[in-house]
Amino acid sequence: MICLCLTAPTLDENRDILRRYRSNADLVELRVDLLNRSERERLSDDRSLTAPKLFPRVKTILTCRLNADGGAWDGTEEERLKLLCSLAERQFTFVDLEDGVSSACSDPFVEQKVRIIRSIHRFESMPEDVAGTLARLKATGDIAKLAVSVRGTADVDALVEAAQALPAGGHVVLGMGKYGLPTRLLAGRMGCAWTYTSPQRGVQAAPGQVDPRELTERYHYRSIGRDTLLFAIVGDPVSHSKSPEYHNARFQRDELDAVYLPFPVDEMTAFFRLAKRFSLSGASVTVPHKQGAAAGADYVDDTVRETGACNTLVREQDIYLGTNTDVPGFLSPLIPYLERLACACVIGAGGAARAVGYALLSRGTDVLIVNRTESRAESLSADLNRAMESLSSRDDGVLPGRARAGSLPNSYEALSGYRSLIVQTSSCGMEPDVQCDPIPDYPFDGSEIVYDIIYTPERTALIRRAERAGCAVITGGSMFAAQAAVQYDLFRRTYWSAQRSRSGVEPRYNGVKRGFR
Ligand code: NAP
Repeated sequence: MICLCLTAPTLDENRDILRRYRSNADLVELRVDLLNRSERERLSDDRSLTAPKLFPRVKTILTCRLNADGGAWDGTEEERLKLLCSLAERQFTFVDLEDGVSSACSDPFVEQKVRIIRSIHRFESMPEDVAGTLARLKATGDIAKLAVSVRGTADVDALVEAAQALPAGGHVVLGMGKYGLPTRLLAGRMGCAWTYTSPQRGVQAAPGQVDPRELTERYHYRSIGRDTLLFAIVGDPVSHSKSPEYHNARFQRDELDAVYLPFPVDEMTAFFRLAKRFSLSGASVTVPHKQGAAAGADYVDDTVRETGACNTLVREQDIYLGTNTDVPGFLSPLIPYLERLACACVIGAGGAARAVGYALLSRGTDVLIVNRTESRAESLSADLNRAMESLSSRDDGVLPGRARAGSLPNSYEALSGYRSLIVQTSSCGMEPDVQCDPIPDYPFDGSEIVYDIIYTPERTALIRRAERAGCAVITGGSMFAAQAAVQYDLFRRTYWSAQRSRSGVEPRYNGVKRGFR
């Protein structure tokens, strides 16, 4: 179920919010502490204002939250409990009573068959014994609610472990704050009775709450069933990633029961534990966790072993396989030019340069790596040459290229010897530094293919200058789309392989069926 928190200062505004979000909510929480004083008085004085009259055809929670628990109640505790008790006969479905609120307050609700949510809100630290805390809450309530400000993925993992150990439907366990997002999007997979949401433009009832429309439309909350396969983008930050739109649109197009969600993660060891708890079928991995994913995957292919970076994880039975789709994604837009690629210059010596250098060298192109900090170019070039030796010793068919290093901006002469392809992989030119050109005085003669892997902005200062000189250009958007397409293909194969092992169902690979059977 989706609970919409009503956080406006008047009852009428709250009714308007419900009207706007009606199709995205199964339950509303009226936050009496956020009503203004006159509205609170109106509610308590007018006995005809029952929950079904105020909020028809929807389940309701009555809540009046203390400051210490993240609320805005400005009166005394005695006044708060008196107000709550005066509302016991107003036919709310649930009342939220914090741990420790006495039975003198809960009894009138029990008599009226209002179900009790026993809640704890922790803003400082995790309870030492999460399972024990939930058991204590459950002993005095119908629903145990534990909301904790999580400091990172390890905390999220501990919450998920405790929630999944309980019978489904009797608890709500959530992580507040950025890293807690998976607990809000996957509440059902934690056995939670519901997830809390607030309209994006209103007052958030708790840190990290998602807009109800975003939850259903962007994150497909309602379509996550028992058998739905889960995929994620893992990084920090991930909130601005377009990957959920990209992959979810394709899952829908291909009619796959699969959903792709953002997982903000601070630490990869805890992420791998969490991934297993949620049975994540695959993930895209982005900054700053590509190295952590490479270290934590159960098996990795050559692209990961030799670049040290993993941007894609897929699950096969109980293990995670790591690959790096930046390598084929980078090469894909170069296919029309492959004949011209005897040599290339790579600008930059960071993680992306490693994948680009590996892709070029392993297909036999000699590479000059130039970087602002020359020592990093030297060390990358040495690493890549070692990787190529190891690759060719394992595979006779590979005739790799050779890497050498240079510095910026002193290598223009050397660069001109490698100019058939110039690949820009440094962050120079990326938003907000859009005027930056890493080789500002290099005179293009129009014969070069210039490939800038930056995709924000789509056309960098370097690309615009190369175009003016008549060069063929490739932008970062093409590489991004190509690596995402390779990734999607891996996710789709994972989906069908999981379906086959789960039910023996003949996979539909979106291809033409061939063979003798
Ligand atoms: P990284 O590991 O942080 O490396 C950054 C590189 O940029 C280093 O070589 C650094 O040089 C250089 N650099 C930074 N500022 C510079 C400046 N003002 N002038 C000259 N050089 C400068 O980053 P990364 O992971 O390699 O990513 C680099 C870029 O590639 C990012 O813009 C990223 O978005 C893009 N990318 C695109 C795709 C795609 O699909 N299109 C995929 C991956 C990455 P020093 O060593 O001297 O610091």
